Amino acid sequence: MTRTVCLAGVLIALLAAPTVAQTPAWSTPTKPFKVIDNTYYVSTQGIASYLIATPEGDILIDVGLPQNAALVEANIKSLGRRLTDVKFILASHGHFDHAGGLAKLKADTGAVVVAGIGERYALQKGVYVGSESDKQLDFPPVTLDGEIADGQVISLGGAHLTAHLTPGHTKGCTTWTWPVKDADGSAHTAIYFCSGSVAANRLVPEQYPGIVADYRATFPKARALQGDVFLAPHTEFFEMEAKRAKLAKPGPNPFIDRAGYLKLLNDQQAAFESALAAAQAKAKNQAMP
Ligand SMILES: [Zn+2]
Repeated sequence: MTRTVCLAGVLIALLAAPTVAQTPAWSTPTKPFKVIDNTYYVSTQGIASYLIATPEGDILIDVGLPQNAALVEANIKSLGRRLTDVKFILASHGHFDHAGGLAKLKADTGAVVVAGIGERYALQKGVYVGSESDKQLDFPPVTLDGEIADGQVISLGGAHLTAHLTPGHTKGCTTWTWPVKDADGSAHTAIYFCSGSVAANRLVPEQYPGIVADYRATFPKARALQGDVFLAPHTEFFEMEAKRAKLAKPGPNPFIDRAGYLKLLNDQQAAFESALAAAQAKAKNQAMP
């Protein structure tokens, strides 16, 4: 009998675990490659980091899990760039799977680290906001050198990256856009969408005050942003491997995929609305005598 009770306890603990369980692909190495123009993929099979290379130094976006930092550094060097070439590190949001490696990269590059307004607390504490007691979601804290406002531009060596605050997934979740050219010289806009997934967020009661209104405002805002070279923090969001396999073939760059971007927004919005409806129904049932 005692044994049954213990197993039930384990089961309850597993069910209560966060919904953002790690998968092996998140830390599986992959070869870095040129996505388009000045933009390179420098992370693992499952979690994205990007390097925007310029004649005056480089801009790195996100660093994945803490254990991915060394892989990202090796990938940057294998492209023939030095770590000290990295002048800016942009953090899309303060979750362990995208911000975990920031502290090591900041220390090893000496780069200026910035994130959107609202993200300082998560990044400098190394916690999942609203779930601070869940130590599984902690990550090495990083000191921010600046917070970026909506519409603010980071410029380096002819590259200009514009910040768009798209909160909900986190309070300061920031989407970045920048101009790029395809091999035929045609002009495009890369868009790195922060994410609109519910992840481990509670919607009732709110994970952070205003999270539901933030999600609701972010989906139409993201849909209105210009951007056709679709990039995201998780590789399955934008079918990275399938597109990478097509890069060598003639024709337009396969990462030019505005339809894929809009589909992700539709899918994540539908998932958010259904999670919200479920949370509201559950709260209503619990409130009944
Ligand atoms: Zn996240």
